[in-house]
Amino acid sequence: MDSQSNPSTRPVSDVMIRFDRVVKKFGDNVVLRDLSFEVEPGEFVTLIGPSGSGKTTILRLLMTLERVNGGTIQVGEEYLSHMEKNGKLVPADEKHLRKVRRRIGMVFQQFNLFPNMKVLQNITEAPIRVLGQSRDEAEEKARSLLEMVGLSDKIDAHPSQLSGGQQQRVAIARALAMEPEVLLLDEVTSALDPELVAGVLAVLREIAETTDITFLCVTHEMQFARDVSDRVMMFDRGQIIEDAKPDKLFTDPDHERTREFLHAVL
Ligand code: ADP
Repeated sequence: MDSQSNPSTRPVSDVMIRFDRVVKKFGDNVVLRDLSFEVEPGEFVTLIGPSGSGKTTILRLLMTLERVNGGTIQVGEEYLSHMEKNGKLVPADEKHLRKVRRRIGMVFQQFNLFPNMKVLQNITEAPIRVLGQSRDEAEEKARSLLEMVGLSDKIDAHPSQLSGGQQQRVAIARALAMEPEVLLLDEVTSALDPELVAGVLAVLREIAETTDITFLCVTHEMQFARDVSDRVMMFDRGQIIEDAKPDKLFTDPDHERTREFLHAVL
């Protein structure tokens, strides 16, 4: 890591996510170059842009599935890469990473449910094992989450008995059961048959509207992005080229590159 990765001050917590001059390389391929942006608590921010521009890498960095090569990432009042020890900031250890990671949930393109467990157990497993909830408490919560995603009648089903859209709604319930402050959505409808997309997006919209969870969403569903986002960031070659409210970005973008991209996908 370069010197800019060593923060000297404690972060403030009026932001939920802060990337500060983040650099990420894979070999010689500089995927993110000095990337800075902030997401406020409760905001729904969508990343759009061409394939290969670095959007998924941002989510993977937040999940600590990748490490930065420079700059810092902050979640709430904590750095991902550093922790406080005896009044000083030192490189984070695994325990610190786990603590920060616990604040973040992620829903993937592939739902990744446990195939050998029923729906209920898919949702209660982590809250019991990781959060230390009692079985009763976890099951009660799971029931209300299943109601929220419209799948109360599937509580005893196995994932293989569900449609892709239903599996994805279980995956959303499972992520929520961990009580995340931030929910990362990575192309959550890309693997679904077209007729199943709307149900999943409706569930996400309801969650966005009824909770104070902060969302960072990567999607090709432009209508959804326009309807639910507080802000949309147009991303190209590792940099944000436009950051605006959806109405502005989708109808009157400032940048030619945004215009071209929207023209190609809409
Ligand atoms: P997007 O989500 O915008 O499609 P990604 O973040 O997936 O873009 O990828 C950005 C770039 O990083 C691409 O050039 C991709 O090939 C590269 N990349 C992503 N993950 C890896 C990896 N694990 N190893 C090597 N290169 C990677």
